[in-house]
Amino acid sequence: MKILSINTGSSSLKFSLFNMDTDEVLVSGLFERIGIDGSCYTIKNSEFKIKEDAELKDHADAIKILLDKLIELKIISSYDEIDGVGHRIVQGADHYDKSVIITDEVLEDIIKLSDLAPLHNPAHAIGIKAFKSILPNTPMVAVFDTAFHQTMSKDKFLYAVPYEWYEKHGVRRYGAHGTSHNYISQTISKELGRDDLKVISCHLGQGASVTAIDSGKCVNTSMGFTPLAGLVMGTRSGDIDVSLVPYVMEKEGLSAGEVVTALNKKSGFLGISGVSSDSRDIEAGIKEGNERCKIAEEMFVNSVVKYIAEYYVELGGCDVIVFTAGIGENSAATREAIAEKLAVLGVKIDKKANDVRGELKCISAKDSKIKLYLVPTNEELMIAKDTLALIK
Ligand code: AMP
Repeated sequence: MKILSINTGSSSLKFSLFNMDTDEVLVSGLFERIGIDGSCYTIKNSEFKIKEDAELKDHADAIKILLDKLIELKIISSYDEIDGVGHRIVQGADHYDKSVIITDEVLEDIIKLSDLAPLHNPAHAIGIKAFKSILPNTPMVAVFDTAFHQTMSKDKFLYAVPYEWYEKHGVRRYGAHGTSHNYISQTISKELGRDDLKVISCHLGQGASVTAIDSGKCVNTSMGFTPLAGLVMGTRSGDIDVSLVPYVMEKEGLSAGEVVTALNKKSGFLGISGVSSDSRDIEAGIKEGNERCKIAEEMFVNSVVKYIAEYYVELGGCDVIVFTAGIGENSAATREAIAEKLAVLGVKIDKKANDVRGELKCISAKDSKIKLYLVPTNEELMIAKDTLALIK
């Protein structure tokens, strides 16, 4: 069976086509600048990489080109060979605690939830409608980034603000990266042959979050009402005292929206270092003696450690801490810095084992009280698996 895993942005469409008999990616790629001048697409697998300019008026154009290209490349012989399409949906709020087949009602709901994810849900809806127009008989599934976090209890997901804000407007912690944390939870459980693990999953990428998982269920997570909360990130501030918002508005002559944009786009690694949002540039800056890069990295590490410590207590201990995503999978230095700060919990990293990138591996010393693992995340496969399970 062949399943397409889709992530639609307002002007982009990212895809992976899976052969579900082997979980193998047959082909993946990205359509960019949809509806904007200079649109182009990339399609690749281990044998080839095609990058071409194309007129992409809308997402339907991108999907038609994608499917026709798959036929031309002999990856499929007709549109009917696509058995299902799974869509990543950023915000499902408390309406969805698992993936669902997309019906007209689900699509309407995704659009209604745009209030909570104005940059993402409208774009996802455009992607769903475009696929529906081209593959009207192919089942589609919505995989929500928030669904995995729906097992959090009220004392974890509420903010200590007037309760009516929650009742009337849905003001609460929703979390994000749920598909990745769920994949990590399932993978580490399989690897260690246990379904009763206490796991702290650290998804450290351009966006970053830590999730506490007990026996496969999310107990708490660091992102909040929106993905701005929690850890220091590439361009996001993470947790702050909200009183600084009106203060900076007045001092800098900015609107509330402009301050929030700065907290989302000009903060984190970028804001502190003044150099870059990319942790590779931060590491290079540290080697060159750049003090602000050093502070940015320390703040990032501190924020990760703070959440791990909190979740260690909340979970009543921890069997395994997992690192994943761009920084988690690639930066041995960051993993080591985090592990060193956790020495008080009996954590010991094996420096030799930690000299690794992007592969599933235990990186803790034999006498570490908590196992440390590197597990490459695979949100696309998780989306494809959920899709397969539901269309079957
Ligand atoms: P993601 O959002 O998961 O794609 O992760 C992006 C982040 O991973 C960026 O901050 C990159 O700098 C970081 N990253 C990717 N490769 C490396 C690397 N080799 N060393 C350190 N950070 C890396």
